[in-house]
Amino acid sequence: MQTPPRPSPAPQKVGLVSLGCPKALVDSERILTKLRADGYAISPSYDGADVVLVNTCGFLDSAKAESLAAIGEAMAENGRVIVTGCLGAEAESIRTQFPGVLAITGPQQYEAVVEAVHAAAPQTHDPFVDLVPPQGIKLTPKHYAYLKISEGCNHSCSFCIIPSMRGKLVSRPAHHVLHEAERLVKAGVKELLVVSQDTSAYGLDLRYQEVSFRGRPVKTRLTELCEAMAAFGVWVRLHYVYPYPHVSELIPLMAEGKLLPYLDIPFQHASPRILRAMRRPGSKEKVLDQIHAWRAACPELVLRSTFIVGFPGETEADFDQLLEWLDEAELDRVGCFRYENVAGAAANDLPGHVPDEVKEERWHRFMVAQQAISQRRLARFQGRTLDVLVDEVGPRQAIGRSFADAPEIDGQVRFTRVAGVRPGDMVKVEITSSDAYDLKGRRMLERAA
Ligand code: SF4
Repeated sequence: MQTPPRPSPAPQKVGLVSLGCPKALVDSERILTKLRADGYAISPSYDGADVVLVNTCGFLDSAKAESLAAIGEAMAENGRVIVTGCLGAEAESIRTQFPGVLAITGPQQYEAVVEAVHAAAPQTHDPFVDLVPPQGIKLTPKHYAYLKISEGCNHSCSFCIIPSMRGKLVSRPAHHVLHEAERLVKAGVKELLVVSQDTSAYGLDLRYQEVSFRGRPVKTRLTELCEAMAAFGVWVRLHYVYPYPHVSELIPLMAEGKLLPYLDIPFQHASPRILRAMRRPGSKEKVLDQIHAWRAACPELVLRSTFIVGFPGETEADFDQLLEWLDEAELDRVGCFRYENVAGAAANDLPGHVPDEVKEERWHRFMVAQQAISQRRLARFQGRTLDVLVDEVGPRQAIGRSFADAPEIDGQVRFTRVAGVRPGDMVKVEITSSDAYDLKGRRMLERAA
């Protein structure tokens, strides 16, 4: 006689509030994957959760304030709260404000945070129930995924405390990254977004160790990793690339269609004086030469960057240099931040802090200048047909992205003729108009391969 199946005990439920950048989102995915493997369920609301995890960001003072507000909300709504992530490195200040927090762990302390959940909401483990899909738990839509290739950073930019919070560069060996990428692609991911603190430094700490993936040798180095990922046949997009000379090796891969012709390089400024104060490398002329050479080798190349205006000591002349440089560089997509102090950062002690109203005024001038450039750059797509990865479908219009748009931070392609189209489809769209951010068009009635 067969033993009737034992009723499984109700699993403990974990709520999650994930703040911060895509790297923090990847951390949240890892933590949830482990918790699901341990038999926990995920609660979509504070009410149903036995414990709430808040994965915090502590990069800027405004991000810290947002993280503290999220902890406050979770305490008020649920009361059983574990804090993790970047702000976890400042446990004392969290405890002062929220003495009732159950546990605090810092960035990358996956095991510690999972242990804290086990202690706060002990789980009756049922080994017969496998709750985790092979690709792990993802917080992004099914068709794209962030792929973290390393942690930490060897630089010491004066406005940043990431190296002190997350430590020096630690790369994942290439076969680990490739196995994860392969699992994601098998699960339906069509776009891999490569992230880290410094993507171009990948493998330096492992001395570009050679490993084996599916019987083939692969170096733990960015160019070789990208070549290997090209074999998966999905979009591969690179974020947070530092402008090292060897980045030029990636351009031929982009020209050959192995890698999306898209580079997200945070240049931060163009004035040599300010770059020195930021402790960032780069002569503005050399970087411009590099950009021109890249575009000559791969005319499709889309460049995205971020900048900081109002950095301590920035004069009107420095800012003008930045605007001139921007005009020459003709970057496609640009984000701009007004400088903010970050507790513990060296830049706080620099002389010549810029008044808020001047920062604001420069930020507006910067954005107006860049809008005109982005508008010019986007206009080149008018009349062309682009492959578009579909994110959302409405009754009359769908929203997707071309190779030129990363999710969340760049623009969109809005298009008509949506019958039969689903999120995650790759379709061909004829572009009919553009503005400074987005493209509009109509779907060509043949599906893209
Ligand atoms: S490169 Fe600079 S800004 Fe980026 S994580 Fe490293 S220290 Fe921070």
